[in-house]
Amino acid sequence: METLQKRDPEIAKMIEMELGRQRNKLEMIASENFVSKAVMEAQGSVLTNKYAEGYSGKRYYGGCEYVDMVETLAIERAKKLFGADHVNVQPHSGSQANFGVYFALLKPGDTIMGMNLSHGGHLTHGSPVNISGTYFNIVPYGVDETTQEIDYDEMRRIALETKPKLIIGGGSAYSRIIDFKKMADIAHEVDAIFMVDMAHFAGLVAAGLHPNPVEYADVVTTTTHKTLRGPRGGMIMCKEKYAKAIDKAIFPGIQGGPLMHVIAAKAVAFGEALQPEFKVYAQQIITNAKVLAQALADYGFTIVSGGTDTHVMLVDVRNTGLTGKEAEHLLDEVGITCNKNTIPFDPASPFVTSGIRLGTPALTSRGLKEDDMKEIAAIIDLVLHNPEDTAKLEEARKRVAVLCETYPLY
Ligand code: PLP
Repeated sequence: METLQKRDPEIAKMIEMELGRQRNKLEMIASENFVSKAVMEAQGSVLTNKYAEGYSGKRYYGGCEYVDMVETLAIERAKKLFGADHVNVQPHSGSQANFGVYFALLKPGDTIMGMNLSHGGHLTHGSPVNISGTYFNIVPYGVDETTQEIDYDEMRRIALETKPKLIIGGGSAYSRIIDFKKMADIAHEVDAIFMVDMAHFAGLVAAGLHPNPVEYADVVTTTTHKTLRGPRGGMIMCKEKYAKAIDKAIFPGIQGGPLMHVIAAKAVAFGEALQPEFKVYAQQIITNAKVLAQALADYGFTIVSGGTDTHVMLVDVRNTGLTGKEAEHLLDEVGITCNKNTIPFDPASPFVTSGIRLGTPALTSRGLKEDDMKEIAAIIDLVLHNPEDTAKLEEARKRVAVLCETYPLY
C-alpha cells in the first residue's frame, strides 16, 4: 500500500478504514468471507492489464500465452474440485453466471421455476425487480409453512402444471441440504433443464461435506467468494452437451474481456480448496453454525426450519419485539455485522423484515470455534433482549472487542 498511500492518500485511507472495520467487527454476513493473502496478491497482479477475449488457445488478442495457462489451470482445478465435465471460469459474478445460463438455454418469455425470494431464493432466480423476472415467465416454489423446508410435492405439482423450461435449485437464505435427486427427477419428468445455483454452499461441496449438485444437475452455477473463499466472481459448470452454448453465452454473449487477475485468484482459491486443511475449515464452518443455532434457540430465538445443515441460519427475531431491520442496526452498533432478512411467510416488508440472516464462514476463517459461537449467541441475546439498556450494550461492545482481539485478521 506504500505507493497507493503516496499516490492517492484519500483512497488509501478509505481502504485502511475498511480494514479496520473488518478487523474490529464480527463479520456474520453469510455470503462473505476473508480470502488469503495469496488470493489477494493474484487479484492485485499485473494480469489486470491484459485483454483476453475468447478462450484459452482461441483468443481475439495477441500476447495471451500466459493468461491461457492461468485460465486452463483454474478450469482444471475446478474440475478436480467438483467433478464437472465442463467449466467456464469467466463470469464476473454470480449474477453474470446465472444470466449466462439463461441466455444460453432459454428464449425471452420462457418459463423458469425458481425458489421464492422471500423463502430463501435469490434475486436472479426470477424476482420481478431483476432482469430474470422481466424477460422470463417466473413460477416460484417455496417452503412448507410448518416445516419451513422445501415442499417438494408442491414443487412437483407446480412443475406439472406450468411445464417450466428451467428449474433452479439453490438460494441465498436456505439453511437445509437440498434434495438434488428429487429436484432432478421433477425436472426430468417435465422435460425441464435442471440448474443448481450453489453460490452459498460451494465451499462445503468442494470439501465433500455437502451433496454435490454436479452429479444431478445439467448446469451448476456458483459464486467463488462465499464459502469457497475465493475472489468476488462467478463460475458455470455443465454437462458437455451444453458446453458450447454456455461458453458462447458468456463471451461474446453477455461479457467482453475476462478479468484475468480475478481468474488467477480463482485458481489460487481452488488450489487452496483442494488442500486437506480446507476440509477441516469447511467442517468447522458447519459445526460453528450448528452450535450457534442451538445456542440461540436455547436463548429463546426461533431458528427458521429449526436449525441448519450448512453455514447459514435465519433467525426469527419477533420474540424480542424487534424487526429484522432494528436487530441488524442494534447488532451493528455493538460490532456484529449481519443482514436483515425476510423469513418465510413474513408479514413484514423486505425493507423491514422479521428476521436476520447469520453465517459462520468469515468468522471460521478468523479461527473462531464452538465456545466462541456460544459467546456470540450470548452477546446477541444480551443486545436484542435489552435494546435500550446502554450499560448492557456497552458490555456487548466490550465482549465483541475481546473476540476480535483474540482472533486477529490479516
Ligand atoms: N446466487 C446466489 C444463490 C447468491 O446468493 C448470490 C449472491 O448473494 C448470487 C447468485 C449473485 O452473486 P453476485 O453478487 O456475485 O452477482
